[in-house]
Amino acid sequence: KNVLLTGGTGFIGKHLTDVLLDNGFSVSILSRTDHKDSSLISYYKWDLNKNYIDEQAVLKADYIIHLAGEGIVDKRWTKKRRKAILESRIKPVDLIYTVLEKHKKTLDAFVSASGVGIYGAKTSHKICNEETPPADDFLGKTCEEWEKAADKIGSLGIRTVKIRTGIVLGRDEGFLKHLTPSFKSGFGAVFGTGKQYLPWIHIDDLCKIYLTAIESTTMHGAYNAAVTDNTTNSRLSKTLAKIYGYSIWIPKVPAFVLKIALGKMSEAILTGQRVSSEKIQQTGFQFQFTDLERTLVNCIK
Ligand code: NDP
Repeated sequence: KNVLLTGGTGFIGKHLTDVLLDNGFSVSILSRTDHKDSSLISYYKWDLNKNYIDEQAVLKADYIIHLAGEGIVDKRWTKKRRKAILESRIKPVDLIYTVLEKHKKTLDAFVSASGVGIYGAKTSHKICNEETPPADDFLGKTCEEWEKAADKIGSLGIRTVKIRTGIVLGRDEGFLKHLTPSFKSGFGAVFGTGKQYLPWIHIDDLCKIYLTAIESTTMHGAYNAAVTDNTTNSRLSKTLAKIYGYSIWIPKVPAFVLKIALGKMSEAILTGQRVSSEKIQQTGFQFQFTDLERTLVNCIK
């Protein structure tokens, strides 16, 4: 069976491609740029600005996993940037929907990335589950629209799953790629009060969740993909400092400094939420990585 990945050239997509190939799937990738096909991966192009998509990519697919989207914390959240973050997640689904509808093509499943940011900036210790309503802030609304777009594919009678992803931890990539250089050189810091919760998941566990989502025909709707523990920004920073072998005391970067430096985007760093992983575990999925220190050692050493 063929799995089409949008955004398959990114951090999660690259790891997921390997997992899918190892499990006997063939993989196609929709990308904005040219890539050479390999014996195992076929590349197709699209151009969201021109509403162009190579229809063959969709017509060949048994499953589609939608990962494409502008980096959420790569640049300051100006009005233009916020629009790009939202549109780069919604427009791809609209293009796919048009092809499916035009050719009366169906899929075994459509699986879309989403984020735990849907629950917004929570200051309480309350654990959010999939029934918790979306928050009324930028990330909350973006994830809500992103999931509504996925549900449009669901309206074609296609099984649709949304993976509300926590911060993905992997070697030299994603969140840790931004964080580890300063810790490595002894300049690690806690952001704001450091009390904000930080739901995380190891990249291997996340790829297994995507695999389960396509293979398990009973999975429908939204699932949180993050370990339920007490990790806060402060705990993560202290654990990283310990792994790099220096002081347990690390300086705090005050919230106002981050607000000046990052503008509205500082929300993503200064706030967080706790999420329940009960629903995904009820499918039979088991996390391989549940201990923060062991996970960080796995990603760093
Ligand atoms: P990456 O930034 O590594 O990759 C995203 C891919 O999306 C890129 O490789 C790119 O592919 C494509 N892309 C970027 N901008 C656009 C655009 N304007 N139009 C169309 N395609 C675009 O992301 P990750 O792999 O880390 O994440 C994948 C998804 O999971 C994202 O939607 C992300 O928001 C979500 N997620 C990730 C988390 C994490 O910690 N990594 C946490 C929560 C959610 P190409 O250049 O080939 O077109």
